[in-house]
Formats: sequence, structure tokens, C-alpha cells
Amino acid sequence: MTLLSVDNITVRYGRLTALRGVSLKIEDGETIFVTGPNGAGKSTLLKAIAGVVPAAEGAIVLGGQVITGASPESTARLGFSMVPEGRHVFGGLTIEENLMLGAGMRKDRARVGEDLKQVYDVFPMLRERKDKPAGVLSGGQQQMLVIGRALMTAPRLIAIDEPSLGLAPKVIDQVYETLLKLRDSRGLTLLIVEQSSTRAMMTGGRMILLRSGQVVLEGDARTLARGDTLKKAYFGYG
Ligand code: ATP
Repeated sequence: MTLLSVDNITVRYGRLTALRGVSLKIEDGETIFVTGPNGAGKSTLLKAIAGVVPAAEGAIVLGGQVITGASPESTARLGFSMVPEGRHVFGGLTIEENLMLGAGMRKDRARVGEDLKQVYDVFPMLRERKDKPAGVLSGGQQQMLVIGRALMTAPRLIAIDEPSLGLAPKVIDQVYETLLKLRDSRGLTLLIVEQSSTRAMMTGGRMILLRSGQVVLEGDARTLARGDTLKKAYFGYG
């Protein structure tokens, strides 16, 4: 079943066109990597789906409902959760308070406690430190926290912007292990933005290459990451 369908969207920032006629479909339970050079429009794509930036043209449909022009609150209510680049935690709030912010809009309060327990089961390190201010966490731990917070919105689709950025390879491994565990145990659909294709090659799934605001290549992540086509398309030659 198609969970998300992005149909021919264009996004502009003033006179700059950041996305031009981008289309993609994501099936339930799939893992999709969006890759591409700096300024290709990767973050803009996530923001447009989330309703943070408006699409000037095109349509976005999530779980059968048109969400083009919807607010970030409504897209979150419909099951889309975005983890923006840069690991924004509230350093003065405790870890648990940060997690509970994710559940702020939920009406199913009874399930929130259960989900918090599940997040702690996935990230025992967060449980151990739940009453500590989030500011004490390392970069990798903060990445876990923002993923945990996104999970507290009870998403069907979680979109993560550059989860590896600035993390040590070992920590990146842990982040990915957790993501894949969540995908398999909770049937979570993953949309991951990464500039490098290394992780996509290890994780598998589908890969979409954006360049200058357009989808220039799409296919099986492992196959693409192994061959020359991706490199050539990435840098715009061949
Ligand atoms: P990076 O990997 O560097 O984050 P990206 O692929 O995520 O790049 P975007 O951040 O989506 O690319 O940016 C796409 C284009 O839109 C770039 O040219 C960028 O400078 C521009 N842009 C992004 N945000 C804004 C904004 N708020 N106002 C004006 N231009 C913007």
C-alpha cells in the first residue's frame, strides 16, 4: 500500500526554485534514502512533506489524505514525523520532558505512557538518564533523543535529516541499528536523508538522488551505491 505520494511538487524560496517537479511514492514499511549534493533540495523535500514550507505546485498525499498546504500539526496528526537536521534538544529540560514534547498533541493519552516505555526499551540509555537535563547528552545520545521524541508522536512514517552528521562511525552504527529495529518491530516506514550513500548500501532499501531540485536517479540502494551510475549522476557528468 502506498503510504506517501508526492506528485510533481515545486517549492520556491522567493526567486529560487528549490524543488522542481519532484515526484515519489513510498510504500508502507519501506526504507527510502534521499541523497544528493549540498543544496540539492533534500531538506526542502522533507519540509514540504511536513508542511513547514509550502509547495507552490503539486500534491502530497499521506495515507490517502491530501496534505498539501496542511500545517505541521496536521501532518504530524496523520502520522508523519520529521527529525530535522541538527538535533534540536531542549538542553534545560530533562530527557523525559523532551520526549513528552513529542506527545504534546496526542489525544490518546492512555497510549502515551505505553509508548514512553517502548521508547525507553529501545533506548535504555535515555531511561537511565531520564531526569537529567538533555544538555548533558553527547551528540549521539542527542540523536537518539530526537528520534525518541519523534517516536512519541506515534508516527507511521518518520523522516530523518542527516542522522549521521557529525557522529563517530560507531555511533552511526548504533543509530542505524535502532532505526532498523524500529522498522522491523513497529512496521515503521523510514525516509532518510544522507549525503553519503555508504549507509544506504549497508541498510538497503530504495534510493532517490536529488540534484538541483530534481530527481535524477532512483533505484535499489545497494545496486546504485555499488555501481558508477550514482557517482556520475551525483556529480552531474556521464
Ligand atoms: P544540504 O545538504 O546542504 O542541507 P539540501 O539538499 O538539504 O542541502 P536544501 O536545504 O533543501 O538543500 O536547499 C535547497 C536550496 O534552497 C539551496 O539552494 C538553499 O540555499 C535554498 N534554501 C534552503 N532554505 C532556504 C530558505 N529558507 N530561504 C532561501 N533559500 C533557501
